[in-house]
Amino acid sequence: MKIIDLRSDTVTKPSAAMKQAMFSAPLGDDVFGDDPTVNKLQSETAKLLGKQAGLFVPSGTMGNQIALKTLTRPGDEVILDHESHIFRYEVAGAAVMSGLQFHTINGPGGIMTAEQVKDAIRPEDIHQPQTALVCLENTHNRAGGVVYPLSEIKKISALCKKRKIKMHLDGARLWNASVASGVSLKEYSKYFDSVMVCFSKGLGCPAGSVLVGSKEFIEKARRNRKMMGGGMRQAGILAGAGRYALKHNLKRMAEDHKRAKRLAQTISQIPKIRIDLASVQTNIVVFDIKQTGMGSEQAMEKLARKGLWLVSFGPTRLRAVTHLDVSDRDIAGAGEILKKVFISHK
Ligand SMILES: *Cc1c(COP(=O)(O)O)cnc(C)c1O
Repeated sequence: MKIIDLRSDTVTKPSAAMKQAMFSAPLGDDVFGDDPTVNKLQSETAKLLGKQAGLFVPSGTMGNQIALKTLTRPGDEVILDHESHIFRYEVAGAAVMSGLQFHTINGPGGIMTAEQVKDAIRPEDIHQPQTALVCLENTHNRAGGVVYPLSEIKKISALCKKRKIKMHLDGARLWNASVASGVSLKEYSKYFDSVMVCFSKGLGCPAGSVLVGSKEFIEKARRNRKMMGGGMRQAGILAGAGRYALKHNLKRMAEDHKRAKRLAQTISQIPKIRIDLASVQTNIVVFDIKQTGMGSEQAMEKLARKGLWLVSFGPTRLRAVTHLDVSDRDIAGAGEILKKVFISHK
């Protein structure tokens, strides 16, 4: 049975051409700073994002954790959305590795407003922790891949500048935000001290993320990467995939977004499934099946038996993600399977 795998955009496998680019990439020892392919990917990514320097890291999680550590001191407080990746999916790493306390905000639809951030900033008070950092996520995964409005980013940035608070952007899918909105990567990045972008998602690479910021920030971040065990040697074999992807796989993400919209349309026509079409702005489709009487686990099992893989986003919520290895036919097929499972179910 052919499987239509919409669990995540991380499931893509490197294409033959990408493998060739990896295979032929010039290599060196990156802990000594001598891998030419890593150095190129770092500087190309920094340039794209309008920052002075970049650092190649094995995963997005490590990129975020290095940024948190580099921009704070133990005992500091970090403001972030309660549905953010850093809060939900990074194993409390910031508490363990950086001694940080999180102050979570319930941003409507994943979008914390400047007003909410303002209320969460600690006053000068001997009893209270100091607010050191605000983290945003663009696109916002659990909110359904929504694009962070630039106007709100600007307001939060103005507030943070005034209060001398740093800003980090979890831009695992910043590529998608830029392709969908037409706002350049540079414009999005301009408001942040550090930005992390992933190559292992929509860009289709096997692994790797890049953290960007000022030269001084990246020098400190490099030490923290070594501490966390992220110093890799001939990492150019991975960075080669990243360089290939920037050239070939970035602009085409618009196709993933079109397919996600098409799938969302089909889902919206299934009675008893709730989906907010306005939230389907990029490659993620989140929907609620509560009224069908089925739970996520049961639904996933039924869908899988017919060849469609999704992930659970809560007891009655499911997520589908389009990506490089999904075709128009797969989307049509996924729609058929969803209809079969949810329309015939009593
Ligand atoms: C995937 C993801 C990350 C990083 O994930 P890794 O699996 O560690 O590469 C970070 N933030 C968001 C929003 C993500 O979706």
